[in-house]
Parts: sequence; C-alpha cells; structure tokens
Amino acid sequence: MTRALDMHVVVLDDEPFMLKLLAHLLRNQGFSHITTCDNGVAALGLLEHAGKVPALILCDLNMPGMDGMEFVRRLVEHGYAGSLILVSGEDERTLQTARTLVQAHRIEILGSLHKPVSPQALAQLMAGWTGAPHAAAATPRKRYDAERLRQAIAQGELTNYYQPKVSVRTAALIGVEALVRWRHPTDGMVFPDQFIDVAEEHDLIDDLTHTVLVQALADSAAWQAHGLPLRVAINVSMDNLRALDFPDFVCARAQAAGVAPQSIVLEVTESRLMRDVRAPLEILTRLRLRRFRLSIDDFGTGHSSLAQLRDVPFEELKIDRGFVHGAHANETSRALFFASLGLAKELGMEVVAEGVEDQADWDFLKHTGCDLAQGYYIARPMPAPALWQWHTHWQQRIAASAALQPQDTL
Ligand code: C2E
Ligand code: CA
Ligand code: CA
Repeated sequence: MTRALDMHVVVLDDEPFMLKLLAHLLRNQGFSHITTCDNGVAALGLLEHAGKVPALILCDLNMPGMDGMEFVRRLVEHGYAGSLILVSGEDERTLQTARTLVQAHRIEILGSLHKPVSPQALAQLMAGWTGAPHAAAATPRKRYDAERLRQAIAQGELTNYYQPKVSVRTAALIGVEALVRWRHPTDGMVFPDQFIDVAEEHDLIDDLTHTVLVQALADSAAWQAHGLPLRVAINVSMDNLRALDFPDFVCARAQAAGVAPQSIVLEVTESRLMRDVRAPLEILTRLRLRRFRLSIDDFGTGHSSLAQLRDVPFEELKIDRGFVHGAHANETSRALFFASLGLAKELGMEVVAEGVEDQADWDFLKHTGCDLAQGYYIARPMPAPALWQWHTHWQQRIAASAALQPQDTL
C-alpha cells in the first residue's frame, strides 16, 4: 500500500516565491515527491508520462497565460484522476465559485487556500488526504485507439442507453436522453468519457453521432407506436457542426423514421474552444428553422455559454449537475442555479436540472419553477427495452409517494 507521503505532489504557481514556500511546507510535512511548475503547460506535460502523473496538484488560480480554471478544464480532458487544492489571493467568493466549477468538472477538490498560505491551513488539508484516487476514477482509464473505435462503430458495438427526463411539477415522463455505451467484447461496458474525445480527434464523431441518431430514432418510433410519445435527445458534438450537410442528414433520417423534428432534441455542449463559430452557428440556426429543438448542455461549465445563448436559438437549457446536486445546502451552487434558471426563463427557454440524485435535490427543485429533472434519483440510464418497466414502477412510485405528487402551486 502506497502511503500518501510517497505520492507525487505538484505545485503550480507563476510566482517563484510561492513555489519555494509551498514545496518547503510540504517537505516539512513529510512529503518527499514534489515537483514545482511555473506554468500550466509544464504541469500538463507531466500527465503525458506514466511515471510522473501527480496524485495531487496545488494550483494557483491567477496565472498569466493559462489560468487556473483553464488548467482545470485541461486536466479533465487528460482524464486526471487525482485531487486538487486551489490556492489564490482572491476573495472567498471567487474561490467558492472556482471550487464549484472544479466540482462540476468531476475533479476531487480537497479544499482551497488563501494567500498568504498558513502552514496550519495547508497541514489541515493535507491531513485529510489519503492519496487514493477518487471513486469515479479508481480504475485506470484505458485509452482506445481510433482504429479500434472505427471498428466498433462499423460492427455495431455501440448502443444507446436512455435516461428519463421528467416534469418537476407532475413527475410525468416527458422525454429521454440517449447516452452512448460501447459494449466491448472483452472490456465490458465502456463509458463515453473514454472514447468521445478519441472520436472527436480522429474524425469519427460524425459516424458515431449518426449511429446514435439512427438508433434513437428507431427506439423513439417504437415507443411512439406503442403509445409512449417521447422527446428523444441526442448529444451533438461541436465537431458535428462543422459538416454543412448535418441538418440534411438529421432531417432525412427523422423523416425516414417517421419522427417529428419537434420530438428531437439536440443537446450541444462546447467541450473545446471553437476558433471559427460561423459554421456551427449556421448549422444550428438551420436545424432550428427545421423545427428541431436545440438544447444547451452543461450550462455554467462551458467556454462561452453566455455568447452561445445570445447567438443560438436554444429552446432548452440544462443546468449542470455541479449546480444542482446539493444546491439546497450550498449557497454558491444555489446562487448559480438561480442565476442560470432566471436567465433561461428570461429568454423563454425550458430548463432541465441535471444530477438530481436524491430526495433533497428533488424537493429543492419543486420550489424553483424549473421545468424538467434528470438524474439518478429518477432513473439511471438504461437500455431501451428497460424503459417500459421503469415507467410502470415510476408511475407506481408517484402514486404512492406524497413527495413526488404533482404540485398545485409552485
Ligand atoms: P452529459 O450529456 O452531461 O450526460 C449526463 C451524464 O451524467 C451521463 O454520463 C449520465 O449517466 C450522468 N448522470 C445522469 N444522472 C446523474 C446523476 O444524478 N448523478 C451523476 N453523478 N451523474 C449522472 P455518461 O453517460 O457517462 O455520459 C458522459 C458524457 O458523454 C455526456 O455528458 C455527454 O457529454 C457525452 N456523451 C454521451 N453520449 C454521447 C453521444 O452519443 N455523443 C456525444 N457527442 N457525446 C456523448
Ligand atoms: Ca447531454
Ligand atoms: Ca449535461
């Protein structure tokens, strides 16, 4: 068993004095494997070498060039499974907001430190650190190469799971979101965060999205034929919005499947910075003109959510789970939740809260005026055939539980 004291700790700060100070304090506390970096690029470089990947990073927020928040986003792209401590001279609110954003990126944050850093505060945070990678990332992520992924798409190894979106007011099932899974013949179920970026980087994302769309349309047509008309959402990568024939493709497939564009939701998230936004804007606008529903995904964590809101005719806004789960107990999350909700309502959009994980999250939503809810409290993503059984159970649960009952007043 490796002890936390032997694990690789990286200190990232543009001020040489802070680097020296923090490294010194860590050494005094018994940590032996410390690397200091004065810029984000150097720190990210460590993640490329198997033997150098840090288990903990102490990261300054304010740095020239790549700042702390951009650095965190890049960490996510690299699949970083370690922990993080934010260090900053900013006020408490800025630090809180930054913490919330980091959590929204699913990175474990041990805490934050104000400059000037006190040895006691640092010691306290380090004492709570076990060195174990956080649960979600406990198993090392395997990278799949593009050729294998190409094969998987061609051989039909990708399959859609569906997660319900329900009305907050009535608890009724309104739609589902398709979430792609790879049924790997030897590795078992592989989740999208292990292959979407490979698809984006190697020109496979169009094929992947087409596969997901065609399957979602077939399932949607079947639900509709059996008396369950549902909106079905698919995730669209910004890279899909470079191909000018994308709207034609979506239109033709929807028509062939007999599914109305109004029942198809295209969830768009800006996972990477787009240099030229003209093509995506044109494509999104054309999709909207053809009556497809556009949804802005992971709101609050993207690169330029506000600019997107201004420029694209979205009808739906999904508030990232970082601002939903636990919002009832966290002032900052709650403030960001209400800010996003208010903005969306002002613009006449429907709002979906993601990451509704427990009763407290659900109860909180009932008093907010948020339209739809999605999350483990309602259902985990499931294969298409399981939806029927879940729906029956859900209806029984609504009937039996006062907490889920439709609300007369909001
Ligand atoms: P997303 O679009 O934000 O999807 C929601 C993710 O959160 C899903 O993870 C879902 O399983 C998970 N989730 C749902 N409810 C809860 C909850 O209550 N608590 C927590 N902690 N998590 C919850 P999944 O399926 O692993 O997908 C991850 C991401 O991969 C998606 O995030 C989406 O950005 C991307 N993705 C999934 N399918 C596709 C696809 O077909 N095409 C593209 N381009 N991206 C996809
Ligand atoms: Ca989504
Ligand atoms: Ca999302």
